[in-house]
Amino acid sequence: MRKRYRCEQCRTTSPPVLTRSALAIERHEHRRQFHGGHVPDGERVVEPGRSSFFALPREQQIVGTVMIVGLVVALLVRFT
Ligand SMILES: [Zn+2]
Repeated sequence: MRKRYRCEQCRTTSPPVLTRSALAIERHEHRRQFHGGHVPDGERVVEPGRSSFFALPREQQIVGTVMIVGLVVALLVRFT
């Protein structure tokens, strides 16, 4: 999951957390410690962007494609 809690009022972002409960704890503790338990304006959850094959560097695209083609050819040779 690797989400982060972001408070725009304080201009801070939490370290990444792996579970919803850890994110809730992070949010709750921040609200309690810095905002007296109130909900700060502009708070949000930051999620990592989706990765795409086309976002990879050119070298990794080529190596990945070669590996997949090699695997498919090996499977075809083995089972035909
Ligand atoms: Zn804050």
